[in-house]
Amino acid sequence: METTSKPIQFDVSSIRRQFPLLAETMNGKPLVFLDSAASSQKPQVVLEKIDYYYRHLHANVHRGVYRLSQEATDAYEHGRKVARRFLNAAKEEEIIFVRGTTEAINLVADTYGRKYLNPGDEVIVSGLEHHSNIVPWQLACSHYSAKLRVIPVLDNGTLDLDAFRKLLNDRTKMVAVAHVSNTLGTINPIKEIITLAHDKDIPVMVDGAQAAPHATIDVQALDVDFYAFSGHKVYGPTGIGILYGKQKWLSELPPYQGGGEMIAQVTFDHTTFAELPHKFEAGTPNIAGAVGLGAALEFVMETGRETIASHEAGLLSYATEQLLAIPGLRIYGTAPDKASVISFLLNNVHPYDTGTILDQLGIAVRTGHHCTQPLMDRFGIPGTVRASFGVYNTTEDIDQLVAGVRKAASMLQ
Ligand code: PLP
Repeated sequence: METTSKPIQFDVSSIRRQFPLLAETMNGKPLVFLDSAASSQKPQVVLEKIDYYYRHLHANVHRGVYRLSQEATDAYEHGRKVARRFLNAAKEEEIIFVRGTTEAINLVADTYGRKYLNPGDEVIVSGLEHHSNIVPWQLACSHYSAKLRVIPVLDNGTLDLDAFRKLLNDRTKMVAVAHVSNTLGTINPIKEIITLAHDKDIPVMVDGAQAAPHATIDVQALDVDFYAFSGHKVYGPTGIGILYGKQKWLSELPPYQGGGEMIAQVTFDHTTFAELPHKFEAGTPNIAGAVGLGAALEFVMETGRETIASHEAGLLSYATEQLLAIPGLRIYGTAPDKASVISFLLNNVHPYDTGTILDQLGIAVRTGHHCTQPLMDRFGIPGTVRASFGVYNTTEDIDQLVAGVRKAASMLQ
């Protein structure tokens, strides 16, 4: 097999120093963290911003005339401004703070379902979706007697777009697809999917959970109707995420939850709702989360999304080549356009056993179905071992992974 040279690294060691947790040990070994697709580690700047917020700025938002409450509101709303810039949304009103991708999709499936789904209607998802982009639509479909249709996945992990074209019809009310597959790494051609759906006046929701850490996202250029991502996968805190929605949709949809913050006027007879984005933000929000998310997105934009993407592309091709050199190892997901996620299996070895040996070596990978059981069924496997890379990973991390997998292969195969 030909050997390719190791990728040129940007100053990854200075990036790594900004992530305190990467200096920890696991099972007595230096931690090799290869599970960023599940949740990434946090840079110092995010930790400091959250700490500063609680020490110096905390009060409830949008309610007080007093200065501290206004400062807290400014800090919270700054997170929204940064998220708008991150997605290149036209307006801040189109940026809704949610708990994460899961809540964003539930919000849209529930409210869109209430307003637009009728018996006999259809919603299209793809065969590589995370359960988060299947189950909320399934719930909505079953409630309104609508039907869930599925874009098939080809052997290399790409979507069958010819089949997609045929699925689109007069009954289709929504297309919901992932930007990037969390299991296979496939980058879906979402611009093409959106154009095909819009040709038939069908809105599209994109699950951007795995794209936000790796790609530049421009919701206006994509002309996407809804776009969701989670803070914790993009170097921000848990419990916060973003739902982008075109203003025309968000204005038309009914509220998701009722409570404080989302109202204009309440009487026992009738309630009117707040303007966007507050209509969808009932109750005291995750203020510190929004502050931390803003810091994380600024970190990503300052590091440079193209720089991050090219660093990770180098890691992906190096890891792919090194792993494929291991006898009996098969990679699932060989799309030409992939993010830095590699799923693999060793011949006749359960993924859990490989993961356990790697754990003993201090190497954190994910094993199992990765919340994509229908995709595992499609490939006829119980799960995979998944290594995923972030801005802080190095070729040395991959060398450790490869040595660990070789060890697992010699012990288990
Ligand atoms: N969609 C994809 C593609 C994911 O990878 C994940 C998480 O792994 C989710 C949705 C759900 O994200 P969260 O658990 O942050 O809501």
